[in-house]
Amino acid sequence: MCGIIGVSNLPDAARAAYLGLYALQHRGQESAGIVTLDDDGRPHLARGMGLVGDIFREGDFKALDGSVALGHTRYSTAGSSVLANAQPCLAEIRGGPLALAHNGNLTNANAIKKELVDEGAIFQTSSDSEVIVHLIARSTQVNPEQRIREALERVEGAFSLVITVGRTLYCVVDPHGFRPLVLGRIGQAIVAASETCALDLVGATVVRELGPGEFVEVVDGMVRDLEPLRKAPAAHRCIFELVYFARPDSTVFGESVDRVRRELGRQLAKEHPAPDADVVFSVPDSANMMALGYADESGLKLEHGLIRNHYVGRTFINPTQALRVAKVKIKFNPVREVLAGRSVVVVDDSLVRGTTSKGLVQMIRAAGARRVHLRLASPPITGPCHYGIDTPNREELIAANHSLEEVRDYLGVDSLGYLSLDGMVRAGGSRNSFCHACFSGSYPITPRDELVQLRHEKPLAGSPA
Ligand code: AMP
Repeated sequence: MCGIIGVSNLPDAARAAYLGLYALQHRGQESAGIVTLDDDGRPHLARGMGLVGDIFREGDFKALDGSVALGHTRYSTAGSSVLANAQPCLAEIRGGPLALAHNGNLTNANAIKKELVDEGAIFQTSSDSEVIVHLIARSTQVNPEQRIREALERVEGAFSLVITVGRTLYCVVDPHGFRPLVLGRIGQAIVAASETCALDLVGATVVRELGPGEFVEVVDGMVRDLEPLRKAPAAHRCIFELVYFARPDSTVFGESVDRVRRELGRQLAKEHPAPDADVVFSVPDSANMMALGYADESGLKLEHGLIRNHYVGRTFINPTQALRVAKVKIKFNPVREVLAGRSVVVVDDSLVRGTTSKGLVQMIRAAGARRVHLRLASPPITGPCHYGIDTPNREELIAANHSLEEVRDYLGVDSLGYLSLDGMVRAGGSRNSFCHACFSGSYPITPRDELVQLRHEKPLAGSPA
């Protein structure tokens, strides 16, 4: 998963991109980068591994000259976690510099890449996004809009993109609309970003979100709607953006993430009450709003039963199971006064491998809780995501391989309740049609590439990394 930002017609655009990337840090912590275009159309690039706050130095901003900028934070789902794969991509193509930042995951990148490599193309990275760069560069169309369109007609899967060709900014969302992209304005400038929380931070007001297939061109802060990409049979907004990924202070797909999460919690309380419970608390921070909703609906007192250390990276980043377990303890600690002698409801947003929850339950019991009722504000995850969320393969997904009873036993809880698919979709709001493939197995696009190859760090065919 990734966070992207595009800026047009703002003096010192790099600083706005930098601020925006701070607000999008939760969407990717492996690497980040900024490209600017100066008044003469010359590109400048700074990228690095790690967190936004650690990568860029004052000196970088002197070099990142210009009023047009792109920014990217990366969490890899295709291609390995190396600097070569950090974005934005920057290339010199016929007609000038092309820069591109991609959020999503292509499902036929490998097939296209193989074809291009057979024809002699030289790839610099193992990321799927570079395929789009090659396709734009090779398009025989004259105008940049047509070159981008032609390239995007060949790729399948999830893509929200900010692209610059020369100093013109293009923003586009795939026909299913899997990933968000929103346009904002500050005075005469336009800022496009993955989430509205980035617009808030740079002081931009929301103009509108881009719908599935929408394609716009921004020249010197002036937005022009282009003909949309060819239509998909239906929109498939990623429901996991609302459940887990986006920040609760953002509006995504026209929905307040905070509202949806509270509703998920309320719905969960209706479907899975815990009559003997004394208190409810969240696994912070992702389930905070859901626990609020659960408390609201059930009348249970909301507490803070777990404290999270904010200086620990994501549990998922650890390569081995042993390390992952240790990291749960580093990340969370129970508040004994809240737990001792109580029957507790623990609300989490989702259960993936079950490692976090198992460790937490042991901790909560050791802190004196009498009974532990685990409530999950989404249904069992039974399949991987092909469209940009980092879910492990099916073998590691606990719910894909075990019955509810087996999961309950493994986690060591007194009761376990998952929100129903229907309940989740209803909480998501009626304005959208959603992709919920990881929960339902209903995949809107069948990946042409070997998913395993794409998602498990094996380089794409013919790639150097
Ligand atoms: P697990 O221990 O594998 O069941 O992990 C569940 C926890 O991981 C939940 O608390 C979620 O908030 C979090 N989570 C869910 N999906 C992801 C993801 N794609 N990347 C990182 N964390 C996630």
